[in-house]
Amino acid sequence: MAANRTFTMIKPDAFEAGNSGAILKMIEEAGFKIVAMKATQLTPELAGKFYEVHKERPFYADLCAYMSSGPIIAAILEKDNAVEDFRKLIGATNPADAAEGTIRKIFAKSIEANAVHGSDSDENAAIEGSFYFSQAERVG
Ligand code: ATP
Ligand code: MG
Repeated sequence: MAANRTFTMIKPDAFEAGNSGAILKMIEEAGFKIVAMKATQLTPELAGKFYEVHKERPFYADLCAYMSSGPIIAAILEKDNAVEDFRKLIGATNPADAAEGTIRKIFAKSIEANAVHGSDSDENAAIEGSFYFSQAERVG
């Protein structure tokens, strides 16, 4: 996947609350193009695989249960400087620390149920995009 791409999930809390449309609107208005997108639901095993990097953290089991608790939207997004700009748009992990106007400040319920995921590097964006989408399922 090209370096001008990132990967996002609208997490179960935001999906359940009916905030997917509002969040996607903010993403598009910030200049991101949707390259691939689907609604889906992770199993606890797949959530564990996705967040494997956190497997030693105390919140890992809760995180896997939460991320598999309901539907999500997974998407690949394209923009110059996508990874860094998207992290700015979503705000800090803990909504209490997130800047005004960021997606997490507006929509997140807690440090765990924090509305959206955003890749933290170009390398992880490519890995995470490929976790959900085959070549045939995305634009380019
Ligand atoms: P994400 O990877 O989902 O974009 P992030 O990069 O801001 O989030 P990470 O440190 O990668 O934060 O943590 C992954 C996810 O684990 C967080 O988004 C949140 O859902 C959950 N999480 C992180 N820290 C905690 C914590 N202290 N307690 C509970 N859940 C947490
Ligand atoms: Mg992360």
